[in-house]
Amino acid sequence: EGKVTVKELANKLDISTNELIGKLIGIGIMANINQELDEDTTELIASEYGFEIREAKTLEERQEEELDFEDSEENLVLRPPVVTVMGHVDHGKTSLLDSIRESHVTQREAGGITQHIGASTVNINGNKIVFLDTPGHEAFTSMRARGAQVTDVAILVVAADDGVMPQTIEAINHAKAANVPIIVAINKMDKPEANPDRVKQELTEHGLVPEDWGGDVITVPVSAIKKEGLDELLEMILLVSEMSELKANPNRKAVGTIIEAELDKGRGPVATVLIQKGTLRIGDSIIAGTASGRVRAMIDSYGKRVKKASPSTAVEILGLSEVPQAGDKLFAAKDDKKARELADQRKEQIKRDQIKSKQNISLDDLFDQI
Ligand code: GDP
Ligand code: MG
Repeated sequence: EGKVTVKELANKLDISTNELIGKLIGIGIMANINQELDEDTTELIASEYGFEIREAKTLEERQEEELDFEDSEENLVLRPPVVTVMGHVDHGKTSLLDSIRESHVTQREAGGITQHIGASTVNINGNKIVFLDTPGHEAFTSMRARGAQVTDVAILVVAADDGVMPQTIEAINHAKAANVPIIVAINKMDKPEANPDRVKQELTEHGLVPEDWGGDVITVPVSAIKKEGLDELLEMILLVSEMSELKANPNRKAVGTIIEAELDKGRGPVATVLIQKGTLRIGDSIIAGTASGRVRAMIDSYGKRVKKASPSTAVEILGLSEVPQAGDKLFAAKDDKKARELADQRKEQIKRDQIKSKQNISLDDLFDQI
């Protein structure tokens, strides 16, 4: 893995093999032309000639260079924040999301019902906030493990009658590792046993010092059940995201991340994608994981059919050839042919990797037997 021979390295450095062999002797290594050099030696020699050793790019990285690009500052415009709710089990994550949805997502826009697509959009005086429904850190960590960063702000729900618990600490660590700002919702304030001061004390012990204790962590007392404190919480989310100056270029081919996906009996592969850059349109050729296809229909979080989706919009899309995985990146490609070609390359790669790992296993088995 990653090893080169004397001949190959000489070639790469554009020097004669004799010169390289001389260099090697100089550092006490007697090598012939076809000998493999260890990585440290290769790096040492290369650096003497002004080169740097880089890991070879993966197929996905190479493809992403083809599909994605850095936007220049002048093309960026503000986009709504994307929020994830985290916290210990039973502290009220689902209840909080439900209450926010019930009280702040206008049914008028929904045409009666709010469709469940894995994300909801809240509108506060013209400012939008996108909430991802997949609560807890499972979704968050599995996505992060796959290199997907979708969250701008983390709401840490801590029950006022229970305080900081193991999964609260895990959530804090995940949000910190991802460099995502945390707002603490101290929930269940309606309970007689509620003790917000104890919660603040415990938060402080874990490095989150509340504002009213001289720190910089915003805490908001809420009751998901009584729908109290929700406006304050939403205002704080807007405040924190304003400070982050979240921006994206809406005028380019779309890049997004799959939030959830499933095989629907009637509709085929259905995926909810969070658009992060650009605008996705009906008819766009797309690739996500090993799936490709063309956007046949898009449904927003109000259950409405839409023709396009801009940055920080979650939409359910139809038209993929297979079900992608949560955390897969989605790209709009030049055309159908390109999308299919890239997806096929990925499938080939997976097949090759499987064969390789099988071979490794059988070799190991062989050695075990000997
Ligand atoms: P999750 O596991 O974090 O998603 O927690 P849930 O939303 O499922 O809530 C767990 C339990 O706490 C449920 O029985 C809720 O009814 C209850 N609960 C959630 N929020 C509140 C609240 O603000 N006040 C009270 N009294 N109970 C709550
Ligand atoms: Mg829940």
